[in-house]
Amino acid sequence: MKRTHNFNAGPAAIPLAVLEKAQSELIDFKGTGMSVMELSHRSKPYEDVHNKASQMMRELMDIPEEYEVLFLQGGASLQFAMIPMNFLKSGSPAHFVMSGVWSEKALAEAAKLGETAVIGSSKDDRYTFVPEKFEDPSEGSYVHLTSNNTIYGTQWKTFPKTKLPLVADMSSDIMSRKIDVSQFSLIYAGAQKNLGPSGVTVVIVKKEMLENANQEIPSILKYATHSKQNSLYNTPPTFAIYMLSLVLEWMKEQGGLAAIEELNERKAQIIYSCIDKSGGFYRGHAKKESRSNMNITFTLENEELTKAFLKESKERGFSGLNGHRSIGGCRASAYNAVPLEACEALAEFMTEFQKKHR
Ligand code: PMP
Repeated sequence: MKRTHNFNAGPAAIPLAVLEKAQSELIDFKGTGMSVMELSHRSKPYEDVHNKASQMMRELMDIPEEYEVLFLQGGASLQFAMIPMNFLKSGSPAHFVMSGVWSEKALAEAAKLGETAVIGSSKDDRYTFVPEKFEDPSEGSYVHLTSNNTIYGTQWKTFPKTKLPLVADMSSDIMSRKIDVSQFSLIYAGAQKNLGPSGVTVVIVKKEMLENANQEIPSILKYATHSKQNSLYNTPPTFAIYMLSLVLEWMKEQGGLAAIEELNERKAQIIYSCIDKSGGFYRGHAKKESRSNMNITFTLENEELTKAFLKESKERGFSGLNGHRSIGGCRASAYNAVPLEACEALAEFMTEFQKKHR
């Protein structure tokens, strides 16, 4: 068996132990004589999986009682629309802090549904940092930010305390570190980076938000519908939720979010220090104070060298090192499931490549 050093941006690496566990249970899940995929979503064995996933999210993230944990579909992209549908009030703008393409997409969807305002942006600086300083609005529906910018490789290090409800897209760094959930009114994330396979989107929402939400929208798009039905309003993505439950178990075995955070910091530093020591051979995109521990973005001197780097890295068993199609260059995504050894191997390869091509 040959496993690659998987630096994909999402869908991304899943812990080998999780894949093996899923493999061992694939044909006969806990004596049911069928796989999880074949179970009814109303059956007891599936319900146990479902409830365990939500309970483990609560435990690992220390989610207070006054929040709901929901498992939805449609990816983070559906959340771009669902959030304003539920919470954007007429004459009360949704405020956006812009830190990349995903913030732009979130803003564009909200703008179709109501009034919006941009209260901070690093666009003029090619999104090389997160705009931590912005005017905190006191009137409006909510403030939206993107905690980690998958394409540019920047990440909020501390979160602002806003007067209005704070909504965060945490698709690319959820559960990669400890955060204080009570600072947020809503957190959302597609699972396919840190939480498992694509297909399930996790939403953590303060219950009081649901009470004041817009009512005149289709049931399936209302958070209250899913909250009332324990995310079983319609058929949920059962296999993705099962995989999520295994990933959460694995996270607990790793020592929880504090241990995961420490390891992620070490992993990212191995690669950043290789960039910093290269004397300009590798050039990081993000300003140091905003560097992401999840997505490490860099370029080489010219297009030709970048191409050679990507080609040679592939031949050496590294996968997913190409930058997003919108900005090019290189990107190493070192999510939770990417082992330290893969980051060490990448740094070693980068040093070797530099020696050869200097
Ligand atoms: N937000 C962020 C920060 C992302 O990285 C992505 C996907 N790469 C999305 C939103 C969109 O997610 P999805 O494909 O699940 O809709």
